[in-house]
Amino acid sequence: MKLQDFPEEVRPYLIPKPSGDYFYRCLGCGKEQGIEELLYVCPECRGVLMIEDRKWDRLKSIPGYKWRHIFDYRSMLTEPALRGIYRFHELLGSIIPVDHIVYLGEGHTPLVASNDRLSKWAGIPFWFKNDGQNPSASFKDRGMASAFSYLRHLIESRRLDSVLAICASTGDTSASAALYASYFVEGVKSVVLLPHGKVTPQQLGQPLGSGAIVIELPGVFDDAMKVVEYLSEHYPVALMNSKNAWRILGQESYSFEIAQQLDYDLEGLAVIVPIGNAGNITAVIKGFLKLYDLHIITKLPVIVGVQSEHANPVYLYYLERNREKRIFKPVKVKPSVAQAAMIGNPVSMPRVIELVEEYREAYGSEEGFLVVEVSEQEIMDSMLMANRNGHIACTQGGECLAGLKRLVSSGILPRRVDRAVLNSTAHMLKFMIFQEKYFMDNFEPDYEVRPKKDLQNQPIVVTFPEHVPQPGVKVSLTPDEFRQFVTAASEKIADILGIEKKGDIHS
Ligand SMILES: *Cc1c(COP(=O)(O)O)cnc(C)c1O
Ligand SMILES: [Zn+2]
Repeated sequence: MKLQDFPEEVRPYLIPKPSGDYFYRCLGCGKEQGIEELLYVCPECRGVLMIEDRKWDRLKSIPGYKWRHIFDYRSMLTEPALRGIYRFHELLGSIIPVDHIVYLGEGHTPLVASNDRLSKWAGIPFWFKNDGQNPSASFKDRGMASAFSYLRHLIESRRLDSVLAICASTGDTSASAALYASYFVEGVKSVVLLPHGKVTPQQLGQPLGSGAIVIELPGVFDDAMKVVEYLSEHYPVALMNSKNAWRILGQESYSFEIAQQLDYDLEGLAVIVPIGNAGNITAVIKGFLKLYDLHIITKLPVIVGVQSEHANPVYLYYLERNREKRIFKPVKVKPSVAQAAMIGNPVSMPRVIELVEEYREAYGSEEGFLVVEVSEQEIMDSMLMANRNGHIACTQGGECLAGLKRLVSSGILPRRVDRAVLNSTAHMLKFMIFQEKYFMDNFEPDYEVRPKKDLQNQPIVVTFPEHVPQPGVKVSLTPDEFRQFVTAASEKIADILGIEKKGDIHS
């Protein structure tokens, strides 16, 4: 729709101008730092940073209903830069001019409702929000669009001429960073560090295809992360992990979209998210708090983090109910099918600790934020069950469904919750190897997954006796031979399917 055709009430707001006054706030010492320089940790105490807006309160002069109108009408604009996460420009990057925004088609991912069978299986009806339908097939693109838009802004404002963008990854961060970096004609080069053998073949292929420098290191993600942190402190590289606070900002769009897709009515809703490095859960909490603060929503959803028993430091931390007594201890991870969340020492933990208290207070009770753990078995069974019912859930999506099922069956789910949004954080195709291990029954023992017969599936290979002419065996079949093959194959298939030949149509 053209700008002049929108209602006058919203027209002046539709194309946002740069506004706000952003700064880094250290969660360790509380000091503030300017954003002109790329910072990943506090220069004074090495604490993690959050980005905040000194002029945030200016946004409160616009009432909640009007914000809802602005965001809803904005979705009818054809301006590409505003079709993704920057529809919510004022909330997640308002200092960036619209013409510096990098848009590769991220965000705006669908909510797909569970059918009756799956709702019954889980305990309540839910939606998957399919973040696998982002350009690099995971939610990481939300944060990368934000981080790379800011980099582009720095380059275009001549505050930076070239960047070596570097990240460690459980697979999806590198796919996403490499994709966004490759879009830049000049100025940005991308390097990704992967734990050797700990990412799927698809995830390894993605950064290679985008032309990134791919470096494999021994160990698990937590080890590679330490190397990247050292590099970013001692060498001129731009860290693209979720330690980079710009990533968190972009990922907040996930919450904004849920609110918009449910007409801003979040009564009785649970939002369920897998936790790995804890960047995503940070962003989801922060996102809903922002909407609530601006009266764009009037009810906060219950936020649930899910972890595998094989990588559960956040779950263990919140087991202690007494806040004073909680002590965070990193864990040594065991192999997990939710490989993208297989992290024992999440870098965003200080962010989670601060935000969870704020969220529980705003929500009015501890129930506003919960963490559950699930077994590897439950994750696999749930993913396969989801995908047999029309979804495209990855293992982490399966983890969310397993978490929901646990919550309902154990009675932990707060009583007023009667619907949920589950984050399928990546596309199932990235995690095909785990489906294959399940179907072939060849999981390594450490995974502790035993396939259930009724969830397995295998191709049926049809073979023929030698006298039946077969394509591929003989170089070229005569028309008569080919008819013989088609008839023989059809009879075999009819046999497998247990169907009878129809009567002759003429008789
Ligand atoms: C990165 C990732 C996660 C974990 O998110 P964090 O922000 O690290 O907690 C979960 N699922 C997928 C598919 C991911 O790529
Ligand atoms: Zn500090």
